[in-house]
Amino acid sequence: MDISLDIYSPVQQINNTLFIDKGLKVFIKRDDLIHPMISGNKWRKLKYVLRSARAQNKTHLVTFGGAFSNHLLATAAAAAKFGFKATGFVRGEDVQNDTLFLCKLHGMQLIYTNRDSYRDKKALFDDVFGSDENAFFIDEGGASAEGAQGCSELVNELTETYDHIFCACGTGTTAAGIINGITLNVLLTHFNAVPVFKNGEFIRDEIDRFLSVPAKYTLHTGYHFGGYAKTDPQLIQFIKQFVADTGVLIEPVYTGKMLYAIYDLAAKNHFAPGSKILAIHSGGIWGLLGMKDKFV
Ligand SMILES: *Cc1c(COP(=O)(O)O)cnc(C)c1O
Repeated sequence: MDISLDIYSPVQQINNTLFIDKGLKVFIKRDDLIHPMISGNKWRKLKYVLRSARAQNKTHLVTFGGAFSNHLLATAAAAAKFGFKATGFVRGEDVQNDTLFLCKLHGMQLIYTNRDSYRDKKALFDDVFGSDENAFFIDEGGASAEGAQGCSELVNELTETYDHIFCACGTGTTAAGIINGITLNVLLTHFNAVPVFKNGEFIRDEIDRFLSVPAKYTLHTGYHFGGYAKTDPQLIQFIKQFVADTGVLIEPVYTGKMLYAIYDLAAKNHFAPGSKILAIHSGGIWGLLGMKDKFV
């Protein structure tokens, strides 16, 4: 089967008094609507990786992730849809949760791995699947040049121009792809990455290694809320309000932090009046299931 999905990712405006007061127009690109499981940037990142697996006649996708990994789930669902077998190495001992339940439901075999051996993914792969000529290695989070290539296509879909594009940033692959797309389309749009980790400055190297040509962009490193998958009551309150106001689901690990950054920067007059800002909804809303207890 051909490895493609019809892309449905409309751009919608977010209206509220803050943006009106500051003279801003804020939009959100709904990559979360591309597919319920292979959502957002994870589809874009997998597209050329899966095509490359198919071209090499590989039938078994092997990848890696934490117990709440959106990438594991996207790979499981994409494997099922496009006729691959899938194995996921899960960081940590025998854990059960909703994400892993959905992975298994899509037929992914899970191998729980202690944190020490998890570190060397190539070694793990060679150990278990070295002699399986059908096995195809996909790095954690889908970080790869092919991943960035898929993400750059997001920019080709835009029918209007924006002063700023914002995206949440984990491995930096999505950010690099979008920056490459901005360069290719010769746009003046400024790219803004919101790292979801503490000390997010290190992500600049990760982004830069996938750039086709050097580019200027901004890292907003002050919106990690304590670190990866960490939250605080302010972030949770923001997410509740945003979802209730817009009908757009977001979650605390990625999209909640990115949107919080836009609202906070707007309130602090970071943007010139008249600016048009596009937030990328990179999907991942199943992550909410692992954080229900934060919303009480
Ligand atoms: C994985 C993920 C990201 C991070 O993408 P990178 O390419 O790793 O930077 C952002 N948002 C969501 C919802 C994700 O699932």
